[in-house]
Order: sequence, then structure tokens, then C-alpha cells
Amino acid sequence: MLVENLLEVEKRIQEACKRANRNRDEVTLIAVSKTKPVSMLQEVYDEGIRCFGENKVQELTDKYDQLPNDIEWHMIGHLQRNKVKYIVDKVALIHSVDSVRLAETIEQEAAKRDVIANILIEVNVAEEDSKFGLKVDEVLPMIEEISKFPHIRIQGLMTIAPYVENPEENRSIFASLQKLSVDIAEKNIDNVSVKVLSMGMTNDYEVAIEEGATMVRVGTGIFGERNYNV
Ligand SMILES: *Cc1c(COP(=O)(O)O)cnc(C)c1O
Repeated sequence: MLVENLLEVEKRIQEACKRANRNRDEVTLIAVSKTKPVSMLQEVYDEGIRCFGENKVQELTDKYDQLPNDIEWHMIGHLQRNKVKYIVDKVALIHSVDSVRLAETIEQEAAKRDVIANILIEVNVAEEDSKFGLKVDEVLPMIEEISKFPHIRIQGLMTIAPYVENPEENRSIFASLQKLSVDIAEKNIDNVSVKVLSMGMTNDYEVAIEEGATMVRVGTGIFGERNYNV
């Protein structure tokens, strides 16, 4: 089942790239494996997937210990400051930074381990549902502050769009995040790249790719529905 799912997702990514006149290699597929057992991650790994997304620190570090070390781990969920120390040297990218206080902790923990932490700034473009993420007009001032931290590299922006029946309803959200990244790029802030746009999930990743996503976070489309009651 996982193999067929992966083939289907891959096919749709390629078609969306084609519609948008983009190269397939501009888009990274992150397999969102939260709640799923290590055996399923291994199966997806064996099909060639190397980027996995988790939203809980404990679950990420457990899986990190059990799976091959060429996996790129992505922290995509809300991150508490007291847990930064467990993942700062294990993850390739933290997608969910939405405060200077969190960035300060990441800076401290990265400095201790002498690593550079790659992060995205989480933007709540839709300004609904989610408690997390910055408002659009808060993003630039925060990036200017965080850019001064020597052990942090801002690589781009992330957003979580609301669940909608018709993914077209989220197109304007993705377009807004893309536009914001262009506005920030034009400021040429030292130490800041906005090349990464992490947007699009199972329900709307094709629209996100058409609007410029460079990372799509697909869980259900690869692993099937999650069951939180077990
Ligand atoms: C769970 C999750 C996803 C994947 O959602 P699906 O709809 O299952 O693809 C993507 N991004 C974030 C931040 C998530 O928490």
C-alpha cells in the first residue's frame, strides 16, 4: 500500500510541477510520519524517501535512534523551549519558529553543541484556527532580530493552511506566503535566505506547488489516516 501511495504522490508532484513550469527537483517531499510505527518509515525509506517530518520531540528522537542516519529529520510541530536541547543537533530543519524567545533558546543550545540550526519562520497567513505562527506584518521585524543570532540560519517560511473541502480555497494563502518571501528577499538581510517555502499538505500540496512551494509535507497521502486513539 505504501509503495502505491508514494507512486501516486510522486506522480501528482510531477504533474503539478509541469503545470507550473517548474523542475521536479525544486520540490522536496517530506513524509510526515507522526503516529506511524518505525516499520512503516523503514518501508518508505526503502523506496528512497530520506526526508521525514515529525511534530513531537519524544517521538522524533525515538525514531531517530532506530532508523538509518542518512535520514533528514524535519521538526514541523510546535516546539517548546525546554525541549529544544533534545533535537537541535538531530534535525535538518525546524519549520515552526514563531517567537524570538524560542529562537534565543535555539541559539543557546546550538552554540553549546557548536552547530548551526536551520529554521523556518512559521506564518499564520490565514489568521484563523491555528494558535501558532506570526501574522504577516510581524514577520519582517522578527526575521531582522533573529538574523543576528550567529548559530541560526533562517532558510525560509512555513505555513499551515486550514483544512478545506476544495484546495483551491487555499491558493491565495500560498500565494501570499510566496509574495512575502519575495518582499523579504528584496531586503537582502545578512544571514537570511528565504529560498525555502514549506507549504502544502495531503489535501492541497498540488496547489501549493503551483504557487511556489519548495517543501510539501505529506502525511495521510503516504501513510494513510492517522489513528490517535490507539
Ligand atoms: C500532520 C501535519 C502534516 C501532514 O498532514 P496530512 O494532511 O496528513 O498530509 C503537515 N504539516 C504539519 C505541520 C502537520 O502537523
